[in-house]
Amino acid sequence: MTANLVLLSGGVGGARLARGFEHLEEVRSTVVVNVGDDETIYGLHVSPDVDTVLYTLAGVEGPQGWGRAGDTMVLMDHLSKLGVDTRFRIGDADAAVNVYRTMRIRAGDQLDEITAALARTLGVRSRILPATNSRLRTEVRTGPGCWLPFQEYFVLRGHRDEVAELRYAGAESATASPGVVEAIRSADAVIIAPSNPPLSIWPILAVADIGAAMRDARRVMAVSPLFGGRALKGPADRVMSSLGLPPGNSGVLAAYDGLLHDLFIDSLDAGDAPSLEQAGVSVHVGSTLIAEEDRAVTFAGRMLEVL
Ligand code: GDP
Ligand code: CA
Repeated sequence: MTANLVLLSGGVGGARLARGFEHLEEVRSTVVVNVGDDETIYGLHVSPDVDTVLYTLAGVEGPQGWGRAGDTMVLMDHLSKLGVDTRFRIGDADAAVNVYRTMRIRAGDQLDEITAALARTLGVRSRILPATNSRLRTEVRTGPGCWLPFQEYFVLRGHRDEVAELRYAGAESATASPGVVEAIRSADAVIIAPSNPPLSIWPILAVADIGAAMRDARRVMAVSPLFGGRALKGPADRVMSSLGLPPGNSGVLAAYDGLLHDLFIDSLDAGDAPSLEQAGVSVHVGSTLIAEEDRAVTFAGRMLEVL
């Protein structure tokens, strides 16, 4: 029997789980990807999380999980000679994708159509949908009255600032991209990937019709991004704590406020299980390390077994 799944995903953590399902024949998966990180850089519309998912599913991702394997930096070298600030690194093949996206947006095409064309070209089997075609941008408050665009906080300042507050500019008027709500409504399960809850998943849930569809979803399962209470990479644990969420996986559960039926946590956090169970969620404990493809496929298989 074919399982119909929807994954909510940010960049690297989400892409790793999506790759597990991409390689399971018995699954039809739709990956709904965060666009709160999108930005105009070097005049180009970059969609970092969408591209990380596309590249990872196509097997062409870079060694850190983002960008493309073996990419050259000729464009960055020349821009830098012209005095342009090139701390946001975009390789040449990656830049070509962003030029293509920008050209099509200028021609009036929507992000979902452009993403579908890229997925076809890259040979990706899963359906990849940007959460919304509307303009939605994550902004980070790092001090009194100090709001930073997401990429300035994350890349240029290396996510070292304490996050006091988040907002998703444009979310109020954003609508889900075509197919997202229908996919959530008809899914056997919606899986929230082990992405950063406030920075990668909340901007998806902030789109009103996605948030509403999630509350009606048949089954919602999440995979924790925490190992021993800490993020494997990036600021998830620090951001959750500075936003007032409880520590460890109680924080992950609270971040998804009443949405979860199941939570997959790592063996390192087995001690979190009793209080989570008490809060009414089914907890599944085991290794959640899915950096390598074969582990991701095995893990995805484990998730299917509890369906
Ligand atoms: P970004 O958009 O590229 O920053 O990535 P995401 O928001 O999708 O994911 C970041 C999170 O992925 C981090 O909090 C990591 O802890 C988590 N992560 C990365 N690799 C793994 C993994 O193999 N297993 C699990 N469970 N989480 C992971
Ligand atoms: Ca991201």
